Amino acid sequence: MPWPLPYVEKTWSVGHIEAISQTMPGRKESPKVLKIQLGLSCNYSCDYCSQRFVPHAEETTQADVPQFLHLLESSLERAPERIEFWGGEPLVYIKTLRPLAEALRQRYPDASFSIVTNGSLLNPEVNTWLDVMGFGVGVSHDGPGQPARGPDPLDDEASREGIMDLYRRLAPQGRISFNAMVHRTNTSREEIAKFFLQLTGDPSLSIGEGSFVDPYDVGGLANSIQSEQEAFEFRRQSLEEIRRGRIVHLDVARSRMQEWARSILERRPASVLGQKCGMDTANQVAVDLMGNVLTCQNVSAVAVAPNGQSHHIGHLSNLEKVALRSSTHWSHREECLNCPVLQACKGACMFLEGPLWTAACDNAYSDHVPFFVAAIEHLTGCAVYRIEGDLPEGRADVFGLKSQDQRSPRRKFIPIKVSNA
Ligand code: SF4
Ligand code: SF4
Repeated sequence: MPWPLPYVEKTWSVGHIEAISQTMPGRKESPKVLKIQLGLSCNYSCDYCSQRFVPHAEETTQADVPQFLHLLESSLERAPERIEFWGGEPLVYIKTLRPLAEALRQRYPDASFSIVTNGSLLNPEVNTWLDVMGFGVGVSHDGPGQPARGPDPLDDEASREGIMDLYRRLAPQGRISFNAMVHRTNTSREEIAKFFLQLTGDPSLSIGEGSFVDPYDVGGLANSIQSEQEAFEFRRQSLEEIRRGRIVHLDVARSRMQEWARSILERRPASVLGQKCGMDTANQVAVDLMGNVLTCQNVSAVAVAPNGQSHHIGHLSNLEKVALRSSTHWSHREECLNCPVLQACKGACMFLEGPLWTAACDNAYSDHVPFFVAAIEHLTGCAVYRIEGDLPEGRADVFGLKSQDQRSPRRKFIPIKVSNA
């Protein structure tokens, strides 16, 4: 079986989910996950990048590192378990990144370190440093869909050699993945898996991300699903690929199948669900080197969220006063309350609003519903093709089969109740 079901232990507890909104701001505390935003500069300009039109705050440099470290020391009550270093392209900031990461490694020897890079600036010397410092590295690359995203570092001899050198170093320890996004012209996870299997020749390959893009501007909208027909085709293709089991190299495929099985078998209530990225939780904190606390690593202290609130939500020196007003928990969105894929989707990007949020939601529904269907199929042996409920017809009729005779005597209907109550 491509999707073995694990023994399931109940993992959720009925706790207090802070359903954040403009009027019920999220709070922050000493973080388990610390995301350090080094700046939004990048040597590439990818088409659907969430940061493309985010105004840049004043650039920081290595001269700001000592002050930042001091601030961190006086503000944190516990060692972070994970520290992420974000750009832009983080290796554009290598002169800042090196002293920062080295000092943090001394202070927090047990913390995991990670970066996500476009790979173009990797070389044997940088790779040795990343390896010795214990970084986990995600290389953003869409595989066969890279041309629609932007420049391809694999077309440049030096970048390609840098990427493959790092892969050879870190892959045996499971510390590197290629992170591919699915979008309108890159719909096949099977083709993505084939591309990276061919590139690496590594049967234990792990591919990160693997979700459909959230749109943040016209570039993201152009890479979104454009019509109901496209949505049906994408859902059908995804289900076939899940059934064939050839997308097991994508972390997202394994984790979604497990998450659906888990949520159904545990009867996990929606009331314990936070947002998909976790940035609504108190113990995940994004900061820049000036100590400004941000909505997340993809924005800057001078950017304003679509709801008119600043993405600059407070300061590291006074975490108690941080107030996350720029974002909206899924439970405040009418569509999510009635949505059958909520358990895995968890509400798309929490700060999007208006047509961009609607497009993100449409992408997310078509992205998640084939996994929901596959998990039900796997658990019950029944094929799902229609979901009754307070849903638009283009969502209820999952695969666009309305024109077929739904009362065929060969079909047996077994109602399964799904509720986000
Ligand atoms: S698909 Fe849309 S409505 Fe459903 S949970 Fe995700 S964001 Fe909410
Ligand atoms: S709020 Fe979350 S989903 Fe939205 S851009 Fe930031 S990290 Fe991504």
